[in-house]
Amino acid sequence: MQSARVWALGAMILAGAVGCGHTPASDDADTDIGEAPGARDGWWRDRVFYEIFVRSFYDSDGDGVGDFVGLTEKLDVLNDGDPTTTSDLGVTGIWLMPINASPSYHGYDVTDYRSVNPDYGTMAEFEAFLAAAHDRGIRVIMDFVMNHSSVRHPWFVSARRGPDSEFRDYYTWRPEDPGWRQPWGTGPVWHPTASGYYYGIFWSGMPDLNLANPAVETEMVEAMEFWLERGIDGFRVDAARHFFESDDGQLSDQPEAHPFVKRLRRRLAAEHPDALLVAEVWTHRGTVAEYYGERGEEFQLAFGFDTASGIITSVRDGRRATFDQQMREIVDSYDDINFEAPFLTNHDMPRVMRKLGADPGAMRVAAATLFAVPGTPFVYYGEEIGMRGGDLPKDEDKRTPMPWAAEGATRGFSSAASWYPGAEAVGVDVESQRGVPDSLWTLYRDLIAMRQRHPALSDGELVTVRRDGGTSGVTAILRAKDDERILYVVNFSGTEESSAVRFEVSGAPTVLLGEGLTSPPVQQGTDLMLEGLAPRGYAYIRID
Ligand code: CA
Repeated sequence: MQSARVWALGAMILAGAVGCGHTPASDDADTDIGEAPGARDGWWRDRVFYEIFVRSFYDSDGDGVGDFVGLTEKLDVLNDGDPTTTSDLGVTGIWLMPINASPSYHGYDVTDYRSVNPDYGTMAEFEAFLAAAHDRGIRVIMDFVMNHSSVRHPWFVSARRGPDSEFRDYYTWRPEDPGWRQPWGTGPVWHPTASGYYYGIFWSGMPDLNLANPAVETEMVEAMEFWLERGIDGFRVDAARHFFESDDGQLSDQPEAHPFVKRLRRRLAAEHPDALLVAEVWTHRGTVAEYYGERGEEFQLAFGFDTASGIITSVRDGRRATFDQQMREIVDSYDDINFEAPFLTNHDMPRVMRKLGADPGAMRVAAATLFAVPGTPFVYYGEEIGMRGGDLPKDEDKRTPMPWAAEGATRGFSSAASWYPGAEAVGVDVESQRGVPDSLWTLYRDLIAMRQRHPALSDGELVTVRRDGGTSGVTAILRAKDDERILYVVNFSGTEESSAVRFEVSGAPTVLLGEGLTSPPVQQGTDLMLEGLAPRGYAYIRID
């Protein structure tokens, strides 16, 4: 170990000597955050988050645009703060998509990292929302977009004037276009100005910030501290795998990202040790896992994109294989399985209900499975009522206004014409489903409550279970913490009832929640025996 370490340091110095374009990685002392506060026992580990696009949630003042006041008015539907009521969904975390000032409808191109978008209201209205959420026991994280700014950010407006700008090195410039293309397509990433080409991986309107510049790093840290001091509980960190690029055009997952994120964590932890950083690293699990560092000293959570597609694939094809593969990979990939933030779909994807062909049984089994897997789950607004979103491929169709009412031109979203049309089916609204037995909303409420009531589900180990018999759609996972064990069994098939199936789990079964069991599960020796499971059937079974 010692010699390898010396060799690594030597290689790093050598890289610096031959003119590496980036700031050298810091040494351990610079990135040490002690016991990585909160990584393994953080406040987020037993919570359920709800992702909100403020523009589309609820319009309080009749201008067709959702706002902070509207969001605050609807908080009681998400969680009224009273654990004895059942008229609320019961989520305990909120992720707000970008709320900073921005010229776009989506807000991922920021012009001021310390302001709120005036379309959504004032800073005072935001702070009132935050206080109201905290009063209800809901923690709030916000999107933080540090990979790039808006082309209209004052830093960039200055930088593009030329090399003499004090902000020139906040961005990355070249005299010629090296011809690189977006890793996921064919779009250019170098964009022309009169003073040279600037790098912007997503779009010419979003120049990438030069995070290797210590001044930019400090700007980002101080902007995050600005929000933490106002009470925000953490950040969803956009586009983290694109923070750095190599000099020869490798545009994702560059090694500089890791010391950068460690420094970010350490600097934030000095005053705000509980601040949560959730990474968007949109790729396969093996790469995502690297962004936790050795023990959660980089990001404390990252979205489980493979888990999301694994659940949806198994529900769509009716077979367990993809889901089982994902569960094995979780166990193999992470030192701590609860590093994942599982979800079904988010604002960048067609909604899960659309992907499932608006099949209500498929949607119910997808939801049931989401809450059985490890990590901190995220629900995308409207998922709980089966919103499909618009049918065009554009991003706005994934982010349409929330239907609150059964009737009306905007289904209760706004008293005016909404900023973008929604087109949901009859019955896909909160009014029609809230508190109604057998509705999708009620299933989400019950799943969320169950998950937060049982430590085995919210923070337990994941154990794969041996199976004997049953059809190709049937599988099970066991979640366990301390003395509590909960078995989740599912039949992904939409057409085939499972034959009798036996799971190697010893103990007395009690069904906590489920649909489609043809008879109660029975203990037989060291096995659990299910007589049958209907198509799209599932059950959470406590094993005592
Ligand atoms: Ca409004």
